[in-house]
Amino acid sequence: MIMTAPRQAFNRGVSELQKKAVAAARGISKSDEICFYVVPVSPVVATLSYHKIGSPPLDGWLTWNYISSAEFSSQLEWFHKRGWQFLSAEALLDALNGNGHLPAKSVLITFDDAYESLLENALPILKRFSAPAAVFAPTQFVGITNLFDHGVEPLERIADWNTLAAFEEAGISVESHGYSHRGFSSLSSLEIQQELEFSKEAIRKNLGKDSRMFAFPYGDFGADKATMDSVIRRAGYDVAFLYGGGTFELGQTLSPLFLPRLAMGTGVNLDELINESPSV
Ligand SMILES: [Zn+2]
Repeated sequence: MIMTAPRQAFNRGVSELQKKAVAAARGISKSDEICFYVVPVSPVVATLSYHKIGSPPLDGWLTWNYISSAEFSSQLEWFHKRGWQFLSAEALLDALNGNGHLPAKSVLITFDDAYESLLENALPILKRFSAPAAVFAPTQFVGITNLFDHGVEPLERIADWNTLAAFEEAGISVESHGYSHRGFSSLSSLEIQQELEFSKEAIRKNLGKDSRMFAFPYGDFGADKATMDSVIRRAGYDVAFLYGGGTFELGQTLSPLFLPRLAMGTGVNLDELINESPSV
């Protein structure tokens, strides 16, 4: 039996040439019909980019980047109910490096700036959903505050190395968010190299791990993607994230060094943000 609606969804992103090749290999002339059965759908990955879970400090103020624990929990529930699988940083790294498969709908939870409050406000909720996550730490500010946000966001304590080690233990992978939390557009090539190398070295020295993931502060990768690509690879990273954008498909040709993420703040509407196709 041929099912029309899902077949269209399964054929999404498949060129006419590919359909014909598959059909020819099966000795079938109506290429549309065979594609429903043999062309797999590429896994869709949603990388959520959070900053702060919970309330601002008493002397602070509320910004879009604060999400209450209740709202965070209901966002994870949204994914859970619709069959999305929570992914570890390692699983995504492996899949992007061509090792291992991902579920059809995969979601990676990330937190930028590595706030200490995540321990109390996010970790219990992640545990409830058995969800791993990744946290991106600007290593110059580890154990201090987000001084780089002065006047824009309330100052909050950034986790120290002991707390970051506890994150690692709890399944939250600690990765690099650079050294001084500066956008790459404002830096010389030597400074960019130092941002990548100093932060990687600090994580290696304090946590004994080789961080292979990077998140550009402000999503700012500088001007030239081709140059940046080789600089990041030379510094020893396999994956780098932008800030903002949408989901991506694993099979599509996109650079693992400029991956989009969904910017998560209070009031985001996941029904609008994630345009779920009937096939995934
Ligand atoms: Zn940041």
